[in-house]
Amino acid sequence: MATLEYDEDGRLLFTEEMRREYTILAPQMAPYHFDYLIQALNSEGYNAELLKSEDYSLIHEGMKYVHNDMCIPAMLVIGQFIDALKRGDYDPDKVALILVQTGGGCRASNYIKILRKALEKARLSQVPVISLNPRGFEKNPGFKITPRLLHKLHDAMLFGDTMMNLTLQTRPYEKEAGATKRAKEEIDARLADYFEHRRIFTWRRAKRMVHFIIERFRAIDTHPRNKPKVGIVGEIYVKYSPLGNNSLEETLEKEGVEVVTPPLYDFFLYTSTNRIIDISRYGGSRLEKWLWWFIIWYVEIRRGKIRKAMREAGFEAPIPFKQLKKLVDGVLDKGAHAGEGWLLTAEMIDLIEHGAPNIVSTQPFGCLPNHIVAKGMFKKLKSLYPESNVVAIDYDTSASKINQINRINLMVSNAFRNHARGGEQT
Ligand code: SF4
Repeated sequence: MATLEYDEDGRLLFTEEMRREYTILAPQMAPYHFDYLIQALNSEGYNAELLKSEDYSLIHEGMKYVHNDMCIPAMLVIGQFIDALKRGDYDPDKVALILVQTGGGCRASNYIKILRKALEKARLSQVPVISLNPRGFEKNPGFKITPRLLHKLHDAMLFGDTMMNLTLQTRPYEKEAGATKRAKEEIDARLADYFEHRRIFTWRRAKRMVHFIIERFRAIDTHPRNKPKVGIVGEIYVKYSPLGNNSLEETLEKEGVEVVTPPLYDFFLYTSTNRIIDISRYGGSRLEKWLWWFIIWYVEIRRGKIRKAMREAGFEAPIPFKQLKKLVDGVLDKGAHAGEGWLLTAEMIDLIEHGAPNIVSTQPFGCLPNHIVAKGMFKKLKSLYPESNVVAIDYDTSASKINQINRINLMVSNAFRNHARGGEQT
């Protein structure tokens, strides 16, 4: 075991020595994105691994060490970490854990501290926890977000969103079963090589990669796209994680619909926008505000190019973030930014306006912020968009898959009926 070092507040640090010797474990939150994020980290000299266990019963480990009024995503993520450490798959003296921290007003910002408390209770307090965040919280001598790593993480998010969009538009229509999966495997092999290349990437190289991805998907032989579309919105973990949402994407595709999941990068742009809103309304550094504007502008320039390439190849592309942000004007104030806040409502409006009026809103039990911006907005959305067909699905510690599936099936059968009638409301 490496020498343990603490900061002045008693926080266990991830040191240079640990960087060389330790494995960094990360929870699988978004399967389309996190593999690439891990590749980006590893190409910068870390040894990171994703925890891919998908057995919902690991939540019991979370329940043992986390207070029972905590959110389900915290129980699952912490349960997954402790389960992996206790099962003996990893040497607890040679691992560190990493969690994304947004710094927003919700309990998610405190998952790191709750995880440390849980590790202490589980007699694993020698395991350091790293915060991955864009705001410089909790510095560690052995983990530095360099410009090159930042660039690679940015590319990983762009590629993850592109892969998700193209997969969801292709897989339900493939003529030869498994063709989309094979394309993904081929692209993943190229991406592994891409991340391995150690330098700050010019857009030219990323552009070539994006075009390769799009062309590879375009080469898949498909039937015409004519299925009802069902959007997935909700709390970020249960929205993207198959562990958190009982493999919702797979369930919906088996029901014969096309799934539309909004880009993960929008969540990052949403948290950046919230910093700007806070500084404008409550004061703060002007320089910081302009820095966030610049970051959003930079990301959107790159995303704009990908959107253009997707549309030119005959795929649908997500709308620009600026447009997404405008959708809630007159519906909800942007000060509502705990949890997924105004973004969740904006995504529902976007889906309804762009051909996916059928929506599953994934809701961790007891998640107050998302209760307000999801369920709390259903009535308003129904009055604005009578064709909307939205269902809220609760995910809790004793989640009954049967109940969830029954409610989803009801929404899907309405979706098929409306689709057959050409989009009329039920
Ligand atoms: S958004 Fe909901 S689930 Fe996520 S931390 Fe906040 S309360 Fe918990």
